[in-house]
Amino acid sequence: MASSICRMCLSKFVNNWQFSYGKVLHNSRTIKVRYFSDFKDQYDLVVIGGGSGGLACSKQAALLDKKVLVMDYVDPSPQGTKWGLGGTCVNVGCIPKKLMHHASLVGDAVNDASKYGWNVTRDKTVEWSVLVEAVQNYIKSLNWGHRVQLKDKNVEYLNAKGSFLDENTIRAVMANGKQKSITASNIVIATGMRPRYPTDVPGALEYAISSDDIFTLKKPPGKTLVIGASYVALESAGFLHGLGFPTSVMVRSIPLRGFDQQMASFVTDHMEAIGIPFLWSCIPVCLEKNSNGKIVVTYKDTKTGFTFTDTYDTVMMAIGRSPSTSGLGLENTGVDLNDKGYIISTRNERSTVKHIYAVGDVLEGGIELTPVAIKAGRLLARRLFDNKSDYMDYTKVPTTVFTPLEYGAVGLSEEAAIRRYGNDNIEVYHAFYKPLEYTIPEKSADQCYIKVVCRREENEEVLGLHFLGPHAGEVVQGFAAAMRCGLTRSLLESTVGIHPTSAEEIVRIHITKRSGIDPTVTGC
Ligand code: FAD
Ligand code: NDP
Repeated sequence: MASSICRMCLSKFVNNWQFSYGKVLHNSRTIKVRYFSDFKDQYDLVVIGGGSGGLACSKQAALLDKKVLVMDYVDPSPQGTKWGLGGTCVNVGCIPKKLMHHASLVGDAVNDASKYGWNVTRDKTVEWSVLVEAVQNYIKSLNWGHRVQLKDKNVEYLNAKGSFLDENTIRAVMANGKQKSITASNIVIATGMRPRYPTDVPGALEYAISSDDIFTLKKPPGKTLVIGASYVALESAGFLHGLGFPTSVMVRSIPLRGFDQQMASFVTDHMEAIGIPFLWSCIPVCLEKNSNGKIVVTYKDTKTGFTFTDTYDTVMMAIGRSPSTSGLGLENTGVDLNDKGYIISTRNERSTVKHIYAVGDVLEGGIELTPVAIKAGRLLARRLFDNKSDYMDYTKVPTTVFTPLEYGAVGLSEEAAIRRYGNDNIEVYHAFYKPLEYTIPEKSADQCYIKVVCRREENEEVLGLHFLGPHAGEVVQGFAAAMRCGLTRSLLESTVGIHPTSAEEIVRIHITKRSGIDPTVTGC
């Protein structure tokens, strides 16, 4: 059905006859163009952002025979770092982080090796350039692999920055400055997040790096200060220390906000025990460069009010991340953002505009993890194009903090369980254990600890499971599946352990906090 707006007039303002929705100027008035049955959008789906969520969503939609385009573009960090296709996880997140974490554990293993009879010695500090090159070579292979996969699956890819002209039209600006208007009947925003810098700390933007820069630093980091106390901060401080660089952490309030706080304090206790100093209750005041090119940090102890200075080779800001939604032209649409810039979802990843969706880090109330972005993206494509009705379940999502002693968790923290059900309705089982491999090198297991938070009822439904120790991610993954199947303490008790492992201590757990009995368990 043709609209009452004349085509001649419309064509003056839009250069693409396939537009089907939008606002146009007609005789000096803005008129909403409703529907032209003879116009068709160019794509069934356009995805803005080629990271974990965007790539998963676009590939799934293309597998369902839809015409799909994904665009990805990386704005350089304030220090000028850029990278290729694949988003945060591949380039400046999970992958380089886990490889550097592993490199630091390898150094630790070399330390232990002599106790096991190996005649090896290790350098004090890693050969940084060798490590960076190896990690970056692997990342380049992943960037390439993503391109190949998109081509194989018939997803069109544009290395372009996308922004909305109206609710159905995206402007794509290519690296060479060329522009293109693209229309789509469904649009997914998967633009992720970028590190935040403080606005009230002079010198921070000029002299501090962020996680966007650490994995490609040209020079070894040297003496490093990491500011922040969550995942990114603690993991980075952990691997830098393990690689041989003297590293301190500046903590404004508590570590690992949102996690079980007893577990979080064991994580930092362990880091302190292996020689990572923590500047508790401190905030940066200003950063300056001295004549030797070192960074002089003035910081304040918020408890005493005293200020201090110290000098570092590298300062890394890890004070959180902000959603990449400014510059997306969302003001040209009805997509609403919350006060932190996250996209508000009316229901199941749908924004406040019916055919515009958001997946991954950019979505309000989501969980900022790669597997979450991937699953949400895939499920969305199946709902849109395959009549499926499965929704992303944001509960019981397992995660691991890859600190020197890894912390894996799934479900509720002890505090959250108490808040939800009340102290009298919660039973907490716990155990300190010693991983067998720690015995010969005589490593301290003071922080190797397990906690299982249950409902205090007949079968004791498991609400939360927390594991601090080597390979925590590998240990917790299977228990997360069990929790989705309704794991109870009775089921844990009836499960046979694998001996000798650390994970078996979870199925052997039997001492409650309430009992006051010493929870230290011994092998065999
Ligand atoms: P991203 O992967 O960030 O992808 C968004 C893409 O969109 C980016 O390429 C961006 O440049 C692009 N983009 C932005 N704006 C535009 C635009 N206008 N036009 C075109 N393209 C645009 N998660 C885990 O599960 N495990 C871990 O171990 C882990 N470690 C991490 C370590 C670090 C240091 C960091 C920072 C994060 C880590 N995460 C980890 C989190 C994980 O990386 C993110 O949750 C995940 O990458 C989010 O995926 P996404 O698709 O939402 O966004
Ligand atoms: P978070 O938002 O989780 O933490 C930010 C940290 O910085 C907090 O400790 C906060 O302290 C502190 N902070 C904030 N502002 C300031 C300031 N002005 N001065 C000093 N300190 C400040 O951010 P992250 O970047 O660590 O992580 C983002 C997300 O990325 C995580 O939620 C996680 O989902 C994902 N991620 C996952 C990983 C994994 O799976 N292993 C690894 C890394 C990231 P305060 O508590 O006082 O506010």
